[in-house]
Amino acid sequence: MSGVYTETLNRLIEEFGKLPGVGPKTAERLAFHILKAQPAEAMKLAEAIRDVKNKIKRCKICYNLSEGKICQICSDKRRDKAIICVVEQPKDVIALEKTGTCKWVYHVLGGHIAPLEGVEPSDLTIDKLVERVRDGNVKELIMATNPNMAGDGTALYISSLLRKTGVKITRLARGLATGTTIEYASGKMLTDAIIGRQQLE
Ligand SMILES: [Zn+2]
Repeated sequence: MSGVYTETLNRLIEEFGKLPGVGPKTAERLAFHILKAQPAEAMKLAEAIRDVKNKIKRCKICYNLSEGKICQICSDKRRDKAIICVVEQPKDVIALEKTGTCKWVYHVLGGHIAPLEGVEPSDLTIDKLVERVRDGNVKELIMATNPNMAGDGTALYISSLLRKTGVKITRLARGLATGTTIEYASGKMLTDAIIGRQQLE
């Protein structure tokens, strides 16, 4: 179908087609939209893509997305640095922050332990979390990994590593329906889960 277009246009259609949820028809429509757009408008998209790849890094403390060395949350003096909320992905930070109840800082693991998928503890930022706790001043770790087998397993693994440090380790309450991920949970559900968090044995 796209064989009739020029090589350059085909390439754009092909690139759009690689995006999640974009089928061949949509890819074609998007490419034509760009073709018809004002040059300045089209360049804004190109620049936004380039900037997101060049400017966004990982915070050196919590591994959340950041444009500087230290993210906005870690730099925020009003945050309680003694409470670290441990999540799998940057998207989970956004979901929790939207509840407006979080006064703590985070630690982004970069996923969950999944040996069958080849994800070992060393592939995550678990060692950096252990360092943060060992450095002292941390009173509580809130395990906000997803409420499924992989998330539970990851939370238990971390708590077994840190048991001897004496830091209090809690897990979000089970108000979150099984199978719901933090990313897609409603604000009300998350707030209840935060308030009802329990000590992880
Ligand atoms: Zn940070």
